[in-house]
Amino acid sequence: MVKLAEWQGKSVFRKYGVPLPRGEVARSAEEAETLVRSGAVPLPCVVKAQVLAGGRGKGGAVRFASTAEEARAAAAAILALEFKGEKVREVLLEEKLAIVRELYVSMTLDRTQRMPLLISSARGGVEIESVADAEIDRQTVDPFPGLTSYEKRRVAKVLGLSGPLVRSLDRLLDSLWNVFQHEDAELVEINPLAVVGDGLVALDAKVIIEDDASFRHPEYAEVRDDRTELEEIAREKEIAFVQLDGNIGVIANGAGLTMATLDVLKELGGAPGVFLDLGGTDDPKKVTEAFLLMARAKPASVFLNIFGGVTRCDTVAKGLVEAMRQVPSDERFPLIARIRGNNEKEGTEILRAAGVTSVPDLRASAQAAVDAARSKP
Ligand code: GDP
Ligand code: MN
Repeated sequence: MVKLAEWQGKSVFRKYGVPLPRGEVARSAEEAETLVRSGAVPLPCVVKAQVLAGGRGKGGAVRFASTAEEARAAAAAILALEFKGEKVREVLLEEKLAIVRELYVSMTLDRTQRMPLLISSARGGVEIESVADAEIDRQTVDPFPGLTSYEKRRVAKVLGLSGPLVRSLDRLLDSLWNVFQHEDAELVEINPLAVVGDGLVALDAKVIIEDDASFRHPEYAEVRDDRTELEEIAREKEIAFVQLDGNIGVIANGAGLTMATLDVLKELGGAPGVFLDLGGTDDPKKVTEAFLLMARAKPASVFLNIFGGVTRCDTVAKGLVEAMRQVPSDERFPLIARIRGNNEKEGTEILRAAGVTSVPDLRASAQAAVDAARSKP
């Protein structure tokens, strides 16, 4: 999934004629000050962290400045932030506009109806998840005729716009539709879409490009995404590895069992931290590699939940025992195993010889992993 940072989304918007505030990107406080002093960014201005997480407004990652010194200080403060776990590497400086109202529009995919979905709300400027359902309008758009004038009129009504603002909205929605179609986006969101004077301006941009269309868009190949360092290494090794917020490592096979295992741990009060899906691996070396990657994430405990099918239990056990040998003793963690299915006996035997017991009961084994993580300092 290619998620564009706000400034990248806005440079796409610019190509399609979406009205935007004047702005520039800076990577240091000095650069921010220079942009203001040179007049490239007019005063007063807004300084915004370029991170992929939302909620920057509330989280101190959007600041205002009315002098070059203030812009420098705001940029320095924001560049020192780690916002929701993401280091801020760039700030966007933009002219500060006088907002009359903040609205919301987005175009996304309705996967159930298999249609593009146009979402609008008069309650912009706050995360859409926090807006009451009754205040959100959704209409599917048939991709063949494309966005029609009656669909656009309905949005104007929902947003409570009249006069020249309706014409401004009309052009903006056409641009939004073109971005969505031509860039193969799965989400194009403008929140807030601001009423400024008698026009509309996109104050924020959230654009996600559909992964399956990436071959049509080599221009996005370089875009930084939100993978962690370990996830990046895993990707290169073709290991399905995802880092979450908790502290219990999960190794399972198949997406269904992996998800179910995360649910069980949560249900028992645990916090899954990393999960690894061995899929249909039948190579002990691959298992060793995956397990060592898991060790680098420093889990408080690891729960191995394998159902042997294509992946045989003894293959996993062999790979695991080899990996445990390679983890230095001061970096070891409690390992709770549950291996069932194909070659279960052989696998259990290999694990037992290495000092790991396989607990056949799901609840009991998951509980053991939760307890082990909890008792770890
Ligand atoms: P988000 O919170 O991460 O979605 O960041 P946004 O880009 O949506 O900005 C958060 C809020 O900052 C907006 O809802 C506005 O209220 C405010 N803001 C952003 N740009 C401007 C601006 O040019 N003028 C004014 N007055 N407020 C702005
Ligand atoms: Mn926003």
